[in-house]
Amino acid sequence: MKVAVYAGSFDPITKGHQDVIKRASKLCDKLIVAVLNNKNKKYWFSLEERKELTEKVLEDIPNIEVLDFSGLLVTFMEKNGAELVIRGLRAVSDYEYELALAYGNQEIADGEIETIFIPASKEYLYLSSSVVREVATYDGKLEKFLDEKIISQVRERAKLLNRE
Ligand code: ADP
Repeated sequence: MKVAVYAGSFDPITKGHQDVIKRASKLCDKLIVAVLNNKNKKYWFSLEERKELTEKVLEDIPNIEVLDFSGLLVTFMEKNGAELVIRGLRAVSDYEYELALAYGNQEIADGEIETIFIPASKEYLYLSSSVVREVATYDGKLEKFLDEKIISQVRERAKLLNRE
């Protein structure tokens, strides 16, 4: 069984992430969407909330499992029997970082894992969770960026944070 991992912060999950996930899910038997928990990072949504939002928008894709992870991706993969890493590639600026990450993972795993890059679809080339948070903060339209199932939750969070 080919198990792949797609890891990220998903704060919140965007249509760009969803696009990569849909396409990647066809390349493997199981795709683990790994929600990163970095204790030193400040998120808009807690780990539980990010997992819940992610599960909500992916509920129609059958071979997906949403898990949380921290630490080394390679260790997480070994534990979960995964051999493929999926990464989305947007503009050129993603490339250098992603390449370093791919080489790093390959070195640590002694060549036991492979990275697959999925090019972002044209309409999501410049979409990131931080763009979404910025637009939400100023009450802009989110329909093009986010699944309709989670828009109100993101708006609510923006309002709450604006009040603080
Ligand atoms: P973001 O950059 O949106 O905060 P993450 O850092 O959690 O997202 O990234 C997780 C993975 O998703 C990375 O491989 C990243 O390149 C990819 N990704 C993020 N947004 C997009 C997008 N719009 N299209 C394709 N891939 C994307």
